[in-house]
Amino acid sequence: MIGKKFMSMASKSVVFWLLSAATFHVGADSFTVGEVTVTRGEQSSGFIMIPDGIDEGSRIPVTVSHGASDGPVLALIAGIHGYEYPPITALQALRGKVDPAALSGTIVMVHIANMPSFLGRTIYYSPADGKNLNRMFPGDPNGSISQRIAHFLTTEVIDQADYLVDLHGGDGNEALRPYVYMPVTGDASFDARTEGLALAFGLDHIVIDTGPQSASGASLFTDQTALVRGIPAITTETGQLGSNDSYWVELAERGVWNVLRHLDMITEDEVVNTGVTWLSEYKVIKSPQSGIFRAFTRDGYVVSEGAVLGVLADFFGNELATIRAPFSGIVNYVISTPPVNEGEPVAMISKIADLDHCFSKRLQEPCRYR
Ligand SMILES: [Zn+2]
Repeated sequence: MIGKKFMSMASKSVVFWLLSAATFHVGADSFTVGEVTVTRGEQSSGFIMIPDGIDEGSRIPVTVSHGASDGPVLALIAGIHGYEYPPITALQALRGKVDPAALSGTIVMVHIANMPSFLGRTIYYSPADGKNLNRMFPGDPNGSISQRIAHFLTTEVIDQADYLVDLHGGDGNEALRPYVYMPVTGDASFDARTEGLALAFGLDHIVIDTGPQSASGASLFTDQTALVRGIPAITTETGQLGSNDSYWVELAERGVWNVLRHLDMITEDEVVNTGVTWLSEYKVIKSPQSGIFRAFTRDGYVVSEGAVLGVLADFFGNELATIRAPFSGIVNYVISTPPVNEGEPVAMISKIADLDHCFSKRLQEPCRYR
């Protein structure tokens, strides 16, 4: 963990390293994230400060729980999208319950990654620069605020992690049935570690994500940024439509605790996930125009190819387009508040994976949870 940090710094200027070295963790007995340095067996909270740049700076509240015993570094990131509240509340609950004296390894909790979006109550985009933080990775220290937040999350949090869980939910406009994105790289032993995280989180729908692997170019997404650094990562979705109901919060918190069990960071047996429906070939259906969307389906519904998902109308109520399911599958989420902009999602649909698509079978193992 220390090595990773110092290697990344070594690629920058020696002068900067010499000036800055004192502020980074300098031994296994302490661990530093942003302004927070914590010794073994302790937990501390503070901020990663994002300095002013071409626009106003920000700050990211973090808690580091540095276990008394050796173990992996688990990064938990909430609030990449500021309107997705349950994971934020779940990590606050976790902070109050973790006992670092009984912990093996280190937990880095990012409580609210995107403070401008959180305080500005915006979906998808930052009110400060109009950018989607989850498309800005690995970030740019000289860019606008979303790019700088991504940069500091990459260098301060992701570069120090051995595992990453990026906690999301349906955004303020999305009715969503809970699921996990499990990214697949094609490296069987690496993917097995990611699968372990995905199963441990405990949700009963897992989307096999063979999407952007970012072999070249920007990693864009939080989880992809971890993957290209050799760090297993999943993205979890619990919550919808701006609700902070305890049902959603508990799904997220329960998932995190079970990941801690799975990684042997706490001395409790992992709760086995016995009911997974594997999903594949997901498609996000985008709105062809700006207007008003009226959903005809709901999150979690099973739909046939061609089924009407909703109708897009203009601002007088005249129908512009009928949005249909491109194939038979499950509705992961559907937009359930009226406004949509051209090119934005109206729904996400996944196919139920058959045996040929079963991820565990691809790893030459029995398909355990089907
Ligand atoms: Zn999100």
